[in-house]
Amino acid sequence: MTLVNGHSYKDKKSTNTNLAILVSHRFTYPFDKPIEYGENVAENLNRLGGNAIMVQRLGDIFRGRRTWPEDLTNNSVQPTLKSAVAGDITYGLGYRTMTDILQFIKDIDKVVEGFANPENLLYGPEIKFYSNEVVLDKNFMTNIKGLYSIGDGGGLTTGLMMASCSGVKMARILSDNIKSEDN
Ligand SMILES: Cc1cc2nc3c(=O)[nH]c(=O)nc-3n(C[C@H](O)[C@H](O)[C@H](O)COP(=O)(O)OP(=O)(O)OC[C@H]3O[C@@H](n4cnc5c(N)ncnc54)[C@H](O)[C@@H]3O)c2cc1C
Repeated sequence: MTLVNGHSYKDKKSTNTNLAILVSHRFTYPFDKPIEYGENVAENLNRLGGNAIMVQRLGDIFRGRRTWPEDLTNNSVQPTLKSAVAGDITYGLGYRTMTDILQFIKDIDKVVEGFANPENLLYGPEIKFYSNEVVLDKNFMTNIKGLYSIGDGGGLTTGLMMASCSGVKMARILSDNIKSEDN
């Protein structure tokens, strides 16, 4: 799979900024293969882009047309990922995913003017797979005494902030345990 995610180089600067927009899907009966679903979406988009990341102007998505390489030539936002292939990412994403992404962009535009600028670029596919949730007690202990699980590995968190918080909380629990053993 060739996936895209917002990387920002420390020393290499550009006039662009980026972020990932992710839509969570919780499938219900009878479907229980979410990882395969994600892999298929990635595979389709990769195929459509000739095994490269695809890029499309937001305005072209609203207009229901693909983006052509020449459309990008005079676009006010220039792609920093030069290897991205101009195309139509909407062929590869489900209706539910696509409408959620567009709704999010429109809503954010109300508070961050320009977020829905038609010349903004959408790259795809960006897909995240999360671990199965491990059953934990309130102190992050698994059903094996003394074995704890924090962060993404046990499916507890899905992002930097929450993973970091779970680490801090775990450290506090362990230091409290040590203090109570000492007393
Ligand atoms: C490409 C990408 C982009 C992301 N972008 C964002 C973002 O923009 N914002 C956001 O909030 N989150 C983002 N995330 C999610 C975020 O990175 C994770 O939620 C977070 O890093 C989870 O922290 P963690 O400490 O639980 O696990 P990790 O950061 O994965 O740390 C686990 C560590 O354990 C080490 N390890 C694994 N196995 C062993 C072993 N057997 N022995 C010793 N060490 C081992 C690994 O090398 C790793 O260093 C992104 C994730 C990816 C993959």
